[in-house]
Amino acid sequence: MTTVTRFAPSPTGHLHLGHAYSALFGWRAAREAGGRFLLRIEDIDPGRCRPEFERDLMEDLAWLGLDWETPVRRQSDHLGDYRAALERLQGMGVIYPCFCTRKDIAAEIARAGHAPHGPDGPLYPGTCRHLPESDRAARIASGAPYALRLDVARAKGLTGPLRWHDQGKGWQEATPEILGDVVLARKDTPTSYHLSVTTDDHIQGVTLVTRGEDLFFATHLHRLLQALLGYAVPEWHHHGLLTNERGERLAKRDKAQTLRSLRDAGRTPAEVRALAEGHTFG
Ligand code: GLU
Repeated sequence: MTTVTRFAPSPTGHLHLGHAYSALFGWRAAREAGGRFLLRIEDIDPGRCRPEFERDLMEDLAWLGLDWETPVRRQSDHLGDYRAALERLQGMGVIYPCFCTRKDIAAEIARAGHAPHGPDGPLYPGTCRHLPESDRAARIASGAPYALRLDVARAKGLTGPLRWHDQGKGWQEATPEILGDVVLARKDTPTSYHLSVTTDDHIQGVTLVTRGEDLFFATHLHRLLQALLGYAVPEWHHHGLLTNERGERLAKRDKAQTLRSLRDAGRTPAEVRALAEGHTFG
Protein backbone atom coordinates (compact mmCIF):
# COMPACT_ATOMS: atom_id res chain seq x y z
CA MET A 1 0.00 0.00 0.00
CA THR A 2 1.39 3.43 -0.93
CA THR A 3 1.92 5.72 2.04
CA VAL A 4 -0.03 8.97 1.69
CA THR A 5 0.60 11.77 4.22
CA ARG A 6 -0.63 15.34 4.39
CA PHE A 7 0.05 18.68 6.03
CA ALA A 8 -3.21 20.51 6.69
CA PRO A 9 -2.71 24.09 7.89
CA SER A 10 -5.42 26.68 8.45
CA PRO A 11 -4.66 29.97 6.67
CA THR A 12 -5.20 32.12 9.76
CA GLY A 13 -1.69 33.54 10.05
CA HIS A 14 1.89 32.96 8.98
CA LEU A 15 3.59 29.60 9.42
CA HIS A 16 6.15 29.33 12.20
CA LEU A 17 8.90 26.86 13.02
CA GLY A 18 6.40 24.46 14.59
CA HIS A 19 4.49 24.27 11.32
CA ALA A 20 7.79 23.76 9.46
CA TYR A 21 8.57 20.84 11.75
CA SER A 22 5.12 19.32 11.22
CA ALA A 23 5.18 19.79 7.44
CA LEU A 24 8.69 18.29 7.19
CA PHE A 25 7.62 15.38 9.41
CA GLY A 26 4.81 14.42 7.02
CA TRP A 27 6.82 15.15 3.89
CA ARG A 28 9.75 12.99 5.07
CA ALA A 29 7.45 10.15 6.13
CA ALA A 30 6.05 10.05 2.58
CA ARG A 31 9.50 10.37 0.98
CA GLU A 32 11.04 7.63 3.11
CA ALA A 33 8.20 5.26 2.24
CA GLY A 34 8.30 6.13 -1.47
CA GLY A 35 4.80 7.55 -0.99
CA ARG A 36 2.82 10.71 -1.69
CA PHE A 37 2.60 13.98 0.21
CA LEU A 38 -0.44 16.26 0.09
CA LEU A 39 -1.08 19.79 1.23
CA ARG A 40 -4.62 20.62 2.32
CA ILE A 41 -6.01 24.03 3.16
CA GLU A 42 -8.32 23.90 6.18
CA ASP A 43 -10.27 27.11 5.68
CA ILE A 44 -13.75 26.34 7.00
CA ASP A 45 -13.64 29.25 9.44
CA PRO A 46 -14.75 32.24 7.35
CA GLY A 47 -14.02 34.71 10.14
CA ARG A 48 -10.38 33.76 10.60
CA CYS A 49 -9.09 32.42 7.27
CA ARG A 50 -7.71 34.71 4.59
CA PRO A 51 -6.62 33.98 1.00
CA GLU A 52 -3.40 35.94 1.45
CA PHE A 53 -2.33 33.59 4.26
CA GLU A 54 -2.99 30.64 1.95
CA ARG A 55 -0.81 32.21 -0.74
CA ASP A 56 1.92 33.03 1.80
CA LEU A 57 1.98 29.57 3.37
CA MET A 58 2.43 27.91 -0.01
CA GLU A 59 5.25 30.31 -0.78
CA ASP A 60 6.87 29.60 2.62
CA LEU A 61 6.64 25.81 2.22
CA ALA A 62 8.08 25.95 -1.31
CA TRP A 63 10.88 28.21 -0.04
CA LEU A 64 11.61 25.62 2.64
CA GLY A 65 12.08 23.05 -0.12
CA LEU A 66 8.84 21.07 0.15
CA ASP A 67 6.75 19.96 -2.77
CA TRP A 68 3.26 18.50 -2.88
CA GLU A 69 0.69 17.21 -5.30
CA THR A 70 -1.72 19.49 -7.09
CA PRO A 71 -4.52 20.41 -7.17
CA VAL A 72 -4.48 21.27 -3.49
CA ARG A 73 -7.75 20.50 -1.71
CA ARG A 74 -9.30 23.56 -0.11
CA GLN A 75 -12.02 22.66 2.38
CA SER A 76 -14.25 25.64 1.59
CA ASP A 77 -14.62 24.24 -1.94
CA HIS A 78 -16.03 20.95 -0.64
CA LEU A 79 -18.79 21.83 1.80
CA GLY A 80 -21.10 19.46 -0.09
CA ASP A 81 -18.93 16.48 0.95
CA TYR A 82 -19.28 17.40 4.62
CA ARG A 83 -23.01 17.96 4.23
CA ALA A 84 -23.39 14.50 2.70
CA ALA A 85 -21.46 12.94 5.62
CA LEU A 86 -23.65 14.82 8.10
CA GLU A 87 -26.79 13.61 6.40
CA ARG A 88 -25.60 10.03 6.70
CA LEU A 89 -24.94 10.52 10.41
CA GLN A 90 -28.36 12.12 10.80
CA GLY A 91 -29.86 9.08 9.13
CA MET A 92 -28.23 6.92 11.81
CA GLY A 93 -29.87 8.99 14.57
CA VAL A 94 -26.59 10.08 16.17
CA ILE A 95 -26.90 13.83 15.55
CA TYR A 96 -29.00 16.39 17.42
CA PRO A 97 -29.48 20.13 17.05
CA CYS A 98 -28.05 22.27 19.84
CA PHE A 99 -29.45 25.75 20.38
CA CYS A 100 -27.20 26.63 23.33
CA THR A 101 -25.06 29.75 23.33
CA ARG A 102 -21.72 29.77 25.15
CA LYS A 103 -23.51 31.67 27.92
CA ASP A 104 -26.21 28.98 28.19
CA ILE A 105 -23.55 26.29 28.47
CA ALA A 106 -21.63 28.18 31.16
CA ALA A 107 -24.88 28.78 33.10
CA GLU A 108 -25.87 25.12 32.88
CA ILE A 109 -22.45 24.02 34.12
CA ALA A 110 -22.66 26.50 37.01
CA ARG A 111 -26.19 25.31 37.85
CA ALA A 112 -25.16 21.64 37.84
CA GLY A 113 -22.38 22.49 40.31
CA HIS A 114 -19.96 20.11 38.67
CA ALA A 115 -18.82 19.52 35.12
CA PRO A 116 -16.88 16.64 33.70
CA HIS A 117 -13.72 18.01 32.10
CA GLY A 118 -12.05 16.82 28.93
CA PRO A 119 -8.64 17.72 27.51
CA ASP A 120 -10.04 21.01 26.15
CA GLY A 121 -12.04 22.09 29.20
CA PRO A 122 -15.54 21.40 30.53
CA LEU A 123 -17.65 19.06 28.43
CA TYR A 124 -20.96 20.04 26.90
CA PRO A 125 -23.52 19.31 29.63
CA GLY A 126 -25.99 17.72 27.20
CA THR A 127 -28.76 20.32 27.60
CA CYS A 128 -30.20 19.83 24.09
CA ARG A 129 -29.62 16.07 23.86
CA HIS A 130 -33.04 15.12 25.15
CA LEU A 131 -35.19 17.96 23.81
CA PRO A 132 -38.50 16.60 22.54
CA GLU A 133 -38.67 16.39 18.77
CA SER A 134 -41.57 18.88 18.73
CA ASP A 135 -39.47 21.50 20.59
CA ARG A 136 -36.63 21.02 18.15
CA ALA A 137 -38.89 21.42 15.15
CA ALA A 138 -40.56 24.52 16.61
CA ARG A 139 -37.26 26.19 17.41
CA ILE A 140 -35.83 25.44 14.00
CA ALA A 141 -39.01 26.71 12.34
CA SER A 142 -38.75 29.94 14.36
CA GLY A 143 -35.30 30.55 12.84
CA ALA A 144 -33.28 29.93 16.03
CA PRO A 145 -29.61 29.32 15.14
CA TYR A 146 -28.33 25.86 16.01
CA ALA A 147 -25.26 23.69 15.80
CA LEU A 148 -25.34 19.94 15.22
CA ARG A 149 -23.77 17.73 17.87
CA LEU A 150 -22.79 14.08 17.88
CA ASP A 151 -24.52 11.93 20.49
CA VAL A 152 -21.32 10.09 21.41
CA ALA A 153 -22.92 7.47 23.67
CA ARG A 154 -25.44 6.53 21.02
CA ALA A 155 -22.74 6.48 18.32
CA LYS A 156 -20.51 4.23 20.43
CA GLY A 157 -23.49 1.96 20.94
CA LEU A 158 -23.64 1.49 17.18
CA THR A 159 -19.94 0.86 16.60
CA GLY A 160 -18.89 -1.05 19.72
CA PRO A 161 -15.31 -0.79 21.00
CA LEU A 162 -12.72 0.67 18.61
CA ARG A 163 -8.95 0.90 18.56
CA TRP A 164 -6.46 2.99 16.65
CA HIS A 165 -2.71 2.87 16.18
CA ASP A 166 -0.17 5.61 16.76
CA GLN A 167 3.29 4.86 15.37
CA GLY A 168 4.91 6.53 18.37
CA LYS A 169 2.56 5.58 21.21
CA GLY A 170 1.21 2.22 20.08
CA TRP A 171 -2.35 0.87 20.14
CA GLN A 172 -5.02 3.03 21.77
CA GLU A 173 -8.50 2.11 22.85
CA ALA A 174 -10.81 4.79 21.42
CA THR A 175 -12.44 6.85 24.18
CA PRO A 176 -14.30 9.61 22.27
CA GLU A 177 -16.50 10.28 25.30
CA ILE A 178 -13.60 12.24 26.83
CA LEU A 179 -14.50 15.04 24.39
CA GLY A 180 -18.23 14.91 25.10
CA ASP A 181 -20.91 15.52 22.46
CA VAL A 182 -18.74 17.52 20.06
CA VAL A 183 -20.08 19.94 17.48
CA LEU A 184 -20.01 18.52 13.94
CA ALA A 185 -21.63 21.49 12.24
CA ARG A 186 -21.23 24.94 13.74
CA LYS A 187 -23.82 27.69 13.79
CA ASP A 188 -21.72 29.81 11.45
CA THR A 189 -20.26 27.04 9.25
CA PRO A 190 -22.01 23.88 8.03
CA THR A 191 -19.18 21.63 9.22
CA SER A 192 -16.48 21.45 11.91
CA TYR A 193 -12.79 20.62 12.16
CA HIS A 194 -13.55 17.03 13.21
CA LEU A 195 -16.00 16.24 10.43
CA SER A 196 -14.08 17.86 7.59
CA VAL A 197 -10.66 16.49 8.55
CA THR A 198 -12.00 12.94 8.82
CA THR A 199 -13.95 13.16 5.58
CA ASP A 200 -11.02 14.66 3.69
CA ASP A 201 -8.49 12.12 4.94
CA HIS A 202 -10.83 9.41 3.65
CA ILE A 203 -11.58 11.06 0.30
CA GLN A 204 -7.90 11.81 -0.28
CA GLY A 205 -6.77 8.29 0.64
CA VAL A 206 -4.48 9.45 3.46
CA THR A 207 -2.90 6.35 5.03
CA LEU A 208 -0.74 8.04 7.68
CA VAL A 209 -2.02 11.09 9.56
CA THR A 210 0.96 12.99 10.96
CA ARG A 211 0.20 15.96 13.20
CA GLY A 212 1.04 17.49 16.57
CA GLU A 213 0.24 15.75 19.82
CA ASP A 214 -2.16 18.58 20.69
CA LEU A 215 -4.59 16.68 18.43
CA PHE A 216 -3.98 13.27 20.02
CA PHE A 217 -7.33 13.26 21.85
CA ALA A 218 -9.21 14.38 18.75
CA THR A 219 -8.17 11.11 17.14
CA HIS A 220 -10.41 9.15 19.54
CA LEU A 221 -13.35 10.95 17.99
CA HIS A 222 -12.05 10.72 14.43
CA ARG A 223 -11.84 6.95 14.84
CA LEU A 224 -15.50 6.90 15.89
CA LEU A 225 -16.55 9.00 12.88
CA GLN A 226 -14.59 6.69 10.57
CA ALA A 227 -16.39 3.66 11.97
CA LEU A 228 -19.81 5.31 11.62
CA LEU A 229 -19.17 6.52 8.09
CA GLY A 230 -17.39 3.39 6.86
CA TYR A 231 -14.17 5.30 6.13
CA ALA A 232 -10.81 3.58 5.71
CA VAL A 233 -8.76 3.69 8.93
CA PRO A 234 -5.30 5.24 8.61
CA GLU A 235 -2.33 5.02 10.95
CA TRP A 236 -1.43 8.05 13.03
CA HIS A 237 1.80 9.56 14.22
CA HIS A 238 1.35 12.44 16.65
CA HIS A 239 4.61 14.29 17.04
CA GLY A 240 5.97 16.51 19.82
CA LEU A 241 5.35 20.27 19.75
CA LEU A 242 8.04 22.90 19.45
CA THR A 243 8.20 25.42 22.25
CA ASN A 244 9.62 28.93 22.63
CA GLU A 245 12.34 29.97 25.09
CA ARG A 246 9.72 30.19 27.87
CA GLY A 247 8.71 26.58 27.29
CA GLU A 248 5.36 27.56 25.73
CA ARG A 249 4.03 25.97 22.59
CA LEU A 250 4.82 28.08 19.53
CA ALA A 251 1.80 30.00 18.34
CA LYS A 252 1.02 32.32 15.49
CA ARG A 253 1.69 35.23 17.84
CA ASP A 254 5.40 34.25 18.13
CA LYS A 255 6.24 36.56 15.28
CA ALA A 256 10.02 36.12 15.50
CA GLN A 257 9.63 32.41 14.77
CA THR A 258 7.64 32.76 11.55
CA LEU A 259 9.30 31.40 8.45
CA ARG A 260 8.87 34.83 6.90
CA SER A 261 10.75 36.68 9.61
CA LEU A 262 13.52 34.07 9.65
CA ARG A 263 13.83 34.42 5.90
CA ASP A 264 13.84 38.22 6.14
CA ALA A 265 16.57 37.96 8.78
CA GLY A 266 18.74 36.22 6.18
CA ARG A 267 18.32 32.57 7.19
CA THR A 268 18.58 30.04 4.38
CA PRO A 269 16.01 27.26 3.89
CA ALA A 270 18.59 24.69 5.03
CA GLU A 271 19.21 26.69 8.22
CA VAL A 272 15.49 26.96 8.94
CA ARG A 273 14.98 23.24 8.33
CA ALA A 274 17.83 22.53 10.74
CA LEU A 275 16.34 24.94 13.30
CA ALA A 276 12.93 23.25 13.08
CA GLU A 277 14.18 19.71 13.11
CA GLY A 278 16.95 20.22 15.65
CA HIS A 279 14.56 21.73 18.18
CA THR A 280 13.95 20.10 21.53
CA PHE A 281 10.39 19.36 22.57
CA GLY A 282 8.37 20.83 25.37
N1 GLU B 1 -5.87 22.30 10.48
C1 GLU B 1 -5.37 21.78 11.71
C2 GLU B 1 -4.47 22.81 12.37
O1 GLU B 1 -4.01 23.72 11.69
C3 GLU B 1 -4.59 20.50 11.56
C4 GLU B 1 -5.46 19.38 11.24
C5 GLU B 1 -4.82 18.01 11.25
O2 GLU B 1 -3.63 17.88 10.94
O3 GLU B 1 -5.55 17.08 11.50
O4 GLU B 1 -4.22 22.69 13.54
